[in-house]
Amino acid sequence: MQRIPLDEIAWEDRFVRAFPGDRSEARTSRQIIGACYATVAPTAVADPRLLCWSPEAAQLIGVASPKVASPGDAASADPNPSYTALIAEVLGGNRVLPGMRPYAAAYAGHQFGSFAGQLGDGRAMTLGELVAPDGQRWDVQLKGAGPTPYSRRADGRAVLRSSVREFLCSEAMHHLGVPTTRALGLVTTGERVVRDMFYDGRPRAEPGAVVCRLAPTFIRFGTFELLSWREELPLLRQLTRFVIEQHFPELARELPPAEHASAPLPGAVVAAWFGEICRRTAVMVTHWMRVGFVHGVMNTDNMSILGLTIDYGPYGWLDPFDPDFTPNTTDASTGRYRFGMQPGVAQWNLAQLARALLPLCEAAADREALAAGLELYRATFQRQYGDTLLAKLGLARAPGVHGAGPALDEPLVNDLLALLAAEETDFTLWFRCLANLPLADDCADDVLLATMAPAAYAALSAGHRAAVLGWLRRYAARARTEPPEERAARMAAVNPVFILRNYLVHQAIEQAEKSDPARPDTSFIERLLRAARAPYHEGPEHDGLLGQRPPWARDKPGCSALSCSS
Ligand code: AMP
Ligand code: MG
Repeated sequence: MQRIPLDEIAWEDRFVRAFPGDRSEARTSRQIIGACYATVAPTAVADPRLLCWSPEAAQLIGVASPKVASPGDAASADPNPSYTALIAEVLGGNRVLPGMRPYAAAYAGHQFGSFAGQLGDGRAMTLGELVAPDGQRWDVQLKGAGPTPYSRRADGRAVLRSSVREFLCSEAMHHLGVPTTRALGLVTTGERVVRDMFYDGRPRAEPGAVVCRLAPTFIRFGTFELLSWREELPLLRQLTRFVIEQHFPELARELPPAEHASAPLPGAVVAAWFGEICRRTAVMVTHWMRVGFVHGVMNTDNMSILGLTIDYGPYGWLDPFDPDFTPNTTDASTGRYRFGMQPGVAQWNLAQLARALLPLCEAAADREALAAGLELYRATFQRQYGDTLLAKLGLARAPGVHGAGPALDEPLVNDLLALLAAEETDFTLWFRCLANLPLADDCADDVLLATMAPAAYAALSAGHRAAVLGWLRRYAARARTEPPEERAARMAAVNPVFILRNYLVHQAIEQAEKSDPARPDTSFIERLLRAARAPYHEGPEHDGLLGQRPPWARDKPGCSALSCSS
């Protein structure tokens, strides 16, 4: 596989060339009308050092990796220190390579249900676009690289803790098979960043960092909302055409050739494209529900137009199954973004996108087609989620009434979800244990319960014990009707052994933060990255990482409660 050193990449800048932007290079916060971006250079940092690197992401985009196995560890001998230093300089924002035209993108968004007007990349900057060896194009973006015109009153920086969280989680999600942006690397800045982590008047200076992340595009629902809100119709058309042409080739074929970039588009194509976004979003959310991921800030500016998980902030993972769990303290009182709300919130967000696209669908039939996209979302999610829950149980879909009605296993599934929520039960461990459940009719109660015991956070109450046993016996009877190998294979494919539990990442961050900045200890970060590479197959790399969340992490800030302050 072809691997090019970072400084030999032929950078492209199609977005910058295609759209109007503010090219003043000024970083002062301001409203920018009539532009889709502002060109702005990263602000150099004191001492950029490469702390983390994803060789898989590097391979994906065809960039040569540094020679050190563990870049953060100053003690590991580096046969090519100048290349590692170059990467650190570029990823830290201290060096803009020839051909790069860094820009901050404009977008708007609904935050916690209210329209927030102009937002935009307040601390992210796209450095440039590259073509990977397989022909896929990738935007290479820094997060935390300094102020932009969209920074509002904030500093444009990011702290190490949130950057490690984004780096590890985007890679872990990829290995879990969840559509996501990727992370190439993470650089510490040698600067401190002041954050009031819980907005309680106790700010503290934390180590700063920059993450380098990758996506075919970082365009969001909010990008369309901005142009629609400002009634910049030609730009809205142009952006829609651009996204369809670049990222939805099967629909691009339906677009008539345009004599100019902002020529009117057939409303039917716009509606079909919206339907595809709805479908992809349904797939993404189904994956989140499968692995127990809670995004935490599903604002429309954090919704990718490609159906990728984007903007890892105060996200979390279910330890005990709890549909009401939200890791985001800002969301604690409303619970808008709690685990069980995610499918509905995604649909609400899609409705905001549909509203933004209405000016492109003037004919009644096109508007109906647009609305049908929302119904497609609902139907796709319902079908996929149903199939996913069955697969988590190792079951094939039983034919419903006339092959289309409710699946026969629905009561079994619904009763399980109620059971899991009734007393603290680990979502991940439950399904892994269930794969080992003895199915024999005459299996003793104690054996059944002992099989599932690793998932229980406390001794079961008598009533719950009886309910669990009742459900396990119903399940065993149903599972006996499936070929054992097929059942096992289905379960192993969808039920992870390893998830990036918050308390694990917290430990990795503490270790890196507390060690000598000149010789940061990234061994736990590396260990988690190794474990995350094979989330479905238990191996020695998972030793000590697969158990329940320990009691000390239950209410600990950074483990169960996170804030948007990052
Ligand atoms: P988020 O909640 O992280 O998705 O961010 C919402 C908006 O706030 C986006 O426009 C971000 O670019 C912006 N933002 C968040 N943190 C910062 C920061 N430290 N400096 C500048 N802008 C920020
Ligand atoms: Mg965001």
